[in-house]
Amino acid sequence: MAYEAKWANDPSKLNKTELLKLEKDGLDVFEDIYRYSKLGFDAITPEDFDRFKWAGVYQQKPKKGHFMMRVRIPSGILTSEQARTLAGISRDFGRGLVDVTTRQSVQFHWLTIENIPAIFERLASVGLSSTEACGDCPRNIVGNPLAGIDPNELIDTRPIVKEVADFFLGNRDFSNLPRKYKISISANIYNAGHAEINDLAFTPATKEIDGEEVVGFHVWVGGGLSAKPFLAKQLDVFVRPEEVLKVAIGVTTIFRDFGYREKRNHARLKFLVNDWGPEKFREELLKLTGELPTRGVDRVVGWNAGYFTGVHKQKQPGLNYVGLSVPVGRMNADELEELARLADVYGDGTVRTCNSQNVVIPGIPDEKLTAFLGEKLLERLTPFPKTFIGHAVSCTGIEFCNLALVETKERMREIATYLDEHVQLDTPIRLHVNGCPNSCGQQQVADIGLQGSLMKTENGMVDAFDLSVGGTLGPGATFNTKLKGRIPADQVAPVLARLITFYKENRLEGEPFHAY
Ligand code: SF4
Repeated sequence: MAYEAKWANDPSKLNKTELLKLEKDGLDVFEDIYRYSKLGFDAITPEDFDRFKWAGVYQQKPKKGHFMMRVRIPSGILTSEQARTLAGISRDFGRGLVDVTTRQSVQFHWLTIENIPAIFERLASVGLSSTEACGDCPRNIVGNPLAGIDPNELIDTRPIVKEVADFFLGNRDFSNLPRKYKISISANIYNAGHAEINDLAFTPATKEIDGEEVVGFHVWVGGGLSAKPFLAKQLDVFVRPEEVLKVAIGVTTIFRDFGYREKRNHARLKFLVNDWGPEKFREELLKLTGELPTRGVDRVVGWNAGYFTGVHKQKQPGLNYVGLSVPVGRMNADELEELARLADVYGDGTVRTCNSQNVVIPGIPDEKLTAFLGEKLLERLTPFPKTFIGHAVSCTGIEFCNLALVETKERMREIATYLDEHVQLDTPIRLHVNGCPNSCGQQQVADIGLQGSLMKTENGMVDAFDLSVGGTLGPGATFNTKLKGRIPADQVAPVLARLITFYKENRLEGEPFHAY
């Protein structure tokens, strides 16, 4: 393998995690997890704790015996049976907590090592998996949660996502990448897959080939957030639907073989793409894929930021999808189970998760809509949320995350509630919060991004937030701009109220909050 050829000559340059991965592949950790489930928490070695990520399992703060687990949901599409199984796992092992992530996955907390094998088995029984939901490998594939029902999609991407997800899942040729690796596949013209912040993304495009208009994809590489964010760059290629897997293998092979493995914070694909540039990257890709047509016509016309709340017509006449708001992405096991029931009674038997941490129930016939909208669950998970709580995104934060500097979810809920009470606005403003620079809450793409930090005051250190404004994706994509100064946590809500009121009173007609 080229990876070995490139690095084996001088392993002294590899970082500590790389040496661990050479010792034992991350995917081998499953055997260890079964063993530790019998031996107990105290038997687990520090190295194996690290490898648990390949099983989608992390130690939960404060590292005293509990774990979180992330479950992959490709393109965010769950059957009601799968949703019910997730609810059962949460209830039986995870204190009833269910978090929807910004990558359409679901996370559990409060798991113990003794229970993890049983959870794996329950997931497998309904075709779900936490394998490689974390770790230096291809993560959950994000995409259009409306795939197959979307009036705004060029093609149904479900079979393509499945093909790519099935190929990479547990594939030992790609289980040792330099760092985490995120793929997005969407044919939605409003960029439902958040293409520009993924390592590899496919967005809808068309091209005239031999006198016929072909529907396919454009390809973007090297996007990612964290402390040093990059927007992905588009390659000069057009990819037919049947060639998506080939191109995904090619790009992932380049990352595996040429990605940087010396410093952890310089190992994402974005750094290689930034150094090579899209032209050289394309040349290397074509060596692996063979010739590809050059770019066609971009069909992305805007960005919906992963929001589908409200009642909307599907592409199938007489059917509707209803997007429900899940405040800061958190629900409980009973609510998820109820969503599964509603999907069966009113919809097409699927529940869909969104990058905005919300959910969609599709396939509701016109004649069932009124009864559906009257369901009790929709009082909290409402399709018509107030402006700010309906557009509030939060990472896990200090409640469970070892890297966090501050609490996030409850704080974001309080901030959004304050704004809903104090500011009336006719246009949504998206608020995102991160508990540290790692950006699981994707604060850089928010209209208003908050990054948790600490601040010295005369009363000692207090929680505080850095404030950034004006992020957006899609045409005109740009990260938000950090403002000067740091705001103590208890001042954030009134400061934002003043900022948003200033925007409201000074905007030009139709002027959005973000920059372009
Ligand atoms: Fe944890 Fe930081 Fe990610 Fe939040 S952004 S979940 S604090 S690593």
